[in-house]
Amino acid sequence: MESGDGWVVRIRPPGGRLDGAQAQAIADAAEAHGNGVIELTGRANLQLRGVTPATHAPLIAALRQHGLIDADTATEQRRNIIVTPFADAQTDALAAALACTLAESGLPLPAKFGFAVDTGPAPVLTRDPADIRIERGAGGLILRADGMAQGAGFDGPDQAVALARWFLDQGGAPQGRGRMAALIAGGASPPGATLAALDSAPPQIPGRVPQGMLVGLEFGQIPPDTLRRLARLAPLRLTPWRMLLAQGVRALPALDGLIADPTNPRMRLRACPGAPACPQGHGRTRDVARSLATLVPDGAILHVSGCAKGCGWPRAADVTLTATPAGFDLIRHGRAHDVAALRGLHPDQLPKVL
Ligand code: SF4
Repeated sequence: MESGDGWVVRIRPPGGRLDGAQAQAIADAAEAHGNGVIELTGRANLQLRGVTPATHAPLIAALRQHGLIDADTATEQRRNIIVTPFADAQTDALAAALACTLAESGLPLPAKFGFAVDTGPAPVLTRDPADIRIERGAGGLILRADGMAQGAGFDGPDQAVALARWFLDQGGAPQGRGRMAALIAGGASPPGATLAALDSAPPQIPGRVPQGMLVGLEFGQIPPDTLRRLARLAPLRLTPWRMLLAQGVRALPALDGLIADPTNPRMRLRACPGAPACPQGHGRTRDVARSLATLVPDGAILHVSGCAKGCGWPRAADVTLTATPAGFDLIRHGRAHDVAALRGLHPDQLPKVL
């Protein structure tokens, strides 16, 4: 994708995992072929920024060497799978089998249509974007269409692909766009959905978990050298929560850009790159968000968006500040494009208003 600071290249590490060599290769590639910015996205992918037409080919070659590129773009687009970072070997095998089955299916799914393999001890991805979810129920795994309260007993990746085909057959993607939850909200209902998943786990925070340590990243960004050093300590799993899981460790040294303290106010901030990195941006976002961090109460979310598109947090936040040509609009409990309670605020007014 083209952006204000060059091309953005998105990487979908298979299974949401990075071994030491892969993480090192990404850190090196970000510096050699981009502007050094590495971002973790809300779908647990990575993005490198500042790539140029001249550096794109060597970047792809470097990533391909480490198994980070699919055979073709259609396969990679279809492999839109978030895997619970708390996966065991069975979950990893299931995610890999689903990726193969999707690749073979040739289904023309919308670009944003995705799958969640959420079969850890309890569902942890229910607040994250996915159209088809595999979760753990009381009597085994279930397959659930997003928007449905219940799912059907799960008997293999073919069944997940069949549900995706059902979505297309029901007219879920007119003009190639559409999401499962919208189809369900319109009255469609997949057959056999009678089983409930286990209750979702509460939202995750930085700190120790049975599988290792979760560390937070401000705005999802990680400096290349921190990624290198972290990957020397442990294999990594990507999350959609602006956190990485360092597997199997009980403690980590302080590394630049990592947030270990769950009460750190920067964990309450969401912001897209804004201007000038994004050409659609009407204002700076991350500097503004940082300047307001200490005013955001624990448990609340402040989203500062460069425009009404709201890429940095496509959901409701406690307060959203949307940059416009006339200043910041303030939205309460809404998304970046929702109706504003206050309009045209100068950055100097924001602390008082918050
Ligand atoms: S929300 Fe607007 S300014 Fe921010 S990244 Fe998306 S398009 Fe760019």
